[in-house]
Amino acid sequence: MTTTVLVLNAGSSSLKWMLFDAPALSRLRSGMVERLGEPTGPGTHAEALASVLSELGNVRPAVVGHRIVHGGRTFTGPALLDEYAVAEVQRLVPLAPLHNPPALAGIAAVAERLLHVPQVGVFDTAFHQTMPEAAARYALPLWCERDHGVRRYGAHGTSHQYVSRVAGEFLQRTDGRDPEPRRREDWNFVTLHLGNGCSAAAVRGGVCVDTSMGLTPLEGLVMGTRCGDLDPAAVTHLQRSAGLSAEEVNRVLNRESGLKGLCGENDVRRVLARAADGDAEADLALDIYCRRIRKYVGAYAAILGRLDGLVFTAGVGENAAEIRRRVCEPLGGFGVTLDAAANEVRSKEPRRIDAGGSAAVLVVPTDEEQEIARQAWGLVRGDDAA
Ligand code: AMP
Repeated sequence: MTTTVLVLNAGSSSLKWMLFDAPALSRLRSGMVERLGEPTGPGTHAEALASVLSELGNVRPAVVGHRIVHGGRTFTGPALLDEYAVAEVQRLVPLAPLHNPPALAGIAAVAERLLHVPQVGVFDTAFHQTMPEAAARYALPLWCERDHGVRRYGAHGTSHQYVSRVAGEFLQRTDGRDPEPRRREDWNFVTLHLGNGCSAAAVRGGVCVDTSMGLTPLEGLVMGTRCGDLDPAAVTHLQRSAGLSAEEVNRVLNRESGLKGLCGENDVRRVLARAADGDAEADLALDIYCRRIRKYVGAYAAILGRLDGLVFTAGVGENAAEIRRRVCEPLGGFGVTLDAAANEVRSKEPRRIDAGGSAAVLVVPTDEEQEIARQAWGLVRGDDAA
């Protein structure tokens, strides 16, 4: 029997794919079909999938795992994409109008081309559905949630789940340094996914208890182009004062804010280089960015009651030693320390970079595709992978 797992990440104009070999989940091959719907690219997701399958020769995967952005309250873990589940993903389109439709197109394409191959949905929101109501609800009139689904769903869940698990496993090994390693159930982590989008999660024993993204990925940390937390009255103020429509404000907050809004640049490498050259605007942008992260670390330490570990991941979290320094150095009162030399090390492996404080500081390169493969394989094989 085949043991390959095909992971698909369908965007509006691209189809990313990765092939894994289970159960070790080693990455066999990967690729991306781009320019979907453009004159030079394939017209549909079905055509894109056809070109992926022809590239893969006669490989017939044991299961296809789909990255799906929004699973609402329905999906709390990986789900077999039967008729009911597909209808539910469709029903959730209003919560992710740009993201769920391409996933549905990908699912339909697989159903057509790979008859009888089971398909599993892995949702960006699922890991956060363990949040207590007190974390998931906004202080709004009840009808806002009841009639319009306005509550906190979170995002980046697959990444937070992956890095919190790997961090727990890492700290249990001897190179975790602890003379008597605690069990996974005991670790209180704050995980920081810092990429172009940024989010924090409070994770107790592998279970998410709070996260910084909310109804949409706009809430929380300062990001590449998103503002993160904001007084909601700023929206109506801008509508009245600058004469912007609801759509225009939405564009400003999602695409023209964050680091880009503050200093004209959303690539952290560029912002860091400018700050190092004495550019005050870039330096202030980084201060605002890192201060917001510290605010969440403190808030989540209070929610968790104890901070055992801080986990950095994604493009910025894995690569930007200077950002980690700016975040960690002022957090000594929370047991956070930094080994300056270890912080500078570049590696694709999980590593520990603290100087022996009560909170371990780790860098764990994220691997959302492998996590999707693990969960998809686990579901069809009946393993407890979620
Ligand atoms: P991601 O969304 O995880 O792909 O992360 C993308 C972000 O990572 C970009 O905004 C880059 O600025 C940032 N990034 C990638 N490499 C580095 C690096 N060496 N130093 C600082 N930031 C980086």
